[in-house]
Amino acid sequence: MTELTTRQRVVVEAGCAWIDDNADALVDLLGDLVARPSLPGDEGVHDDEGTTVGRLWSFLDDNADALDLDAQPLPPEGDYREETRENVYAVLPGEGDGGFVATSHTDVVPPGPDDDWPGGEPWTMRDGVVRRTGNCTVEIAVGDRVEERTIRERMDRIWRLRGDEKVAALFGRGVYDNKASIVCLVGSALGLDIALSETGTALAGDVVHGHLVDEEYYQVGAKNMVGWGDGEDWLGDRYDSYDDWTAAVLEGSYGFVPVVGHRGLVWVTLRAEGESAHASTPKLGRNAVLGEAKALAETDSDEYRDAIAAPFVDDALLGDLTVAPGTTIVGGGVERVDHETGAVERGGVNTIPDWCEATFDVRIPRWEGFPDGADALQDRLLETVERRATEAAPDVNFAATVGEHEFFPPVALAANREAAADHPLVRTAAWAAENTVGYEPGLDVAPGVTDAAFVYHGTHIPTLVEYGPAGALSHESSEFVERDHVIAGAKAMLKLAVAEVGLAHGS
Ligand SMILES: [Zn+2]
Repeated sequence: MTELTTRQRVVVEAGCAWIDDNADALVDLLGDLVARPSLPGDEGVHDDEGTTVGRLWSFLDDNADALDLDAQPLPPEGDYREETRENVYAVLPGEGDGGFVATSHTDVVPPGPDDDWPGGEPWTMRDGVVRRTGNCTVEIAVGDRVEERTIRERMDRIWRLRGDEKVAALFGRGVYDNKASIVCLVGSALGLDIALSETGTALAGDVVHGHLVDEEYYQVGAKNMVGWGDGEDWLGDRYDSYDDWTAAVLEGSYGFVPVVGHRGLVWVTLRAEGESAHASTPKLGRNAVLGEAKALAETDSDEYRDAIAAPFVDDALLGDLTVAPGTTIVGGGVERVDHETGAVERGGVNTIPDWCEATFDVRIPRWEGFPDGADALQDRLLETVERRATEAAPDVNFAATVGEHEFFPPVALAANREAAADHPLVRTAAWAAENTVGYEPGLDVAPGVTDAAFVYHGTHIPTLVEYGPAGALSHESSEFVERDHVIAGAKAMLKLAVAEVGLAHGS
């Protein structure tokens, strides 16, 4: 059980008092952020208050005392977007070498049709009520719209843990994934900033918040925070080593359950090249579509999965490798597909196709030698996919590749759940949760990848892959976050930061 010292308690109390006094302003900030659509690429820049990044910046800048702010424009070479977009960092400097990093992301996914949203407006934050009506089922009521929706078992667990039947919630695209997390970090940074100056205290290590672009697509923001690939290394330019550092990635999550790992993700592209010929004389050609089909049919067996899984360990925490072959496929003669109607424009229906391309979604646990050797691991995976395809269809040439932004390594804090529960970061995060929201959160493993993939692999800092407020329906219409958790989250993050870095002696 984490125990704060008397001085730490005084700082935490002063910080939480600031958060309570400014609760309405923090919720208003959340509304301002939701009102600024920030699809990946359009997150914005610090000096344009009309953007999410600009509004975040101005709120921090208006309220900060000792907090250092920095904006990092993403280098155009490493970015697939034309418009400039920036990561924003807020740093509370401490006196020692240790540190605590927390991140959120500023981008959101597209809202879909306006009519699916309360009031027909995805970009307006609205108040409503959510009631649990049964297993994994809630009724949401916003204005005159009432609907029943399904939530994940992980979310349902929180309802059961705390026993509430009904909570106040805030609705809007991005409110939960991930703008509430931005506000939790903002509230904790400003509360801590004011508390330190009021009490004449200094931190023993740095608290670094990164508000990162592009989590939903390629995590370009996280890559440029930690120097992954050819990216910039904002953090590495400031710190020589990360001994005694810890990190947490904030996400619209499961009510401050420490999430201790996620599998990695590899999008493999398998391209088949054959030779075209007139379809009346198929023997004169080499049919790439048929070759690709044979290669895909081969994948539907345990034996194939075992071959792909050979370099990976039996991972008690993250679970087994899975392969989903043929997540997309297209081949010779297809000229265009209308993505709304699904209508296909073809040419050459009387021709033996000379190309075909399919993608595989491969979810990976840790490998032998993890976390080193990610490149060699990728090469071996591609070699296996290519070799097995060639064995299935020897007359066609295959090439398996992974795009620059299509590999996300797995993250895990410990060998298994028991060891993870005993990890000091997990224990402290569980304490901060229980101390704030009143229930013992346990721990969990995330179903999908987060910015932790690169925050961890660029630094090897022990990292919670998710930690954050309760809500539900991320990536769906009527996404919501629980109102109280926005403020509770600011307090939990403040407590976690103080417990992780401590206070400087004699300050
Ligand atoms: Zn998301």
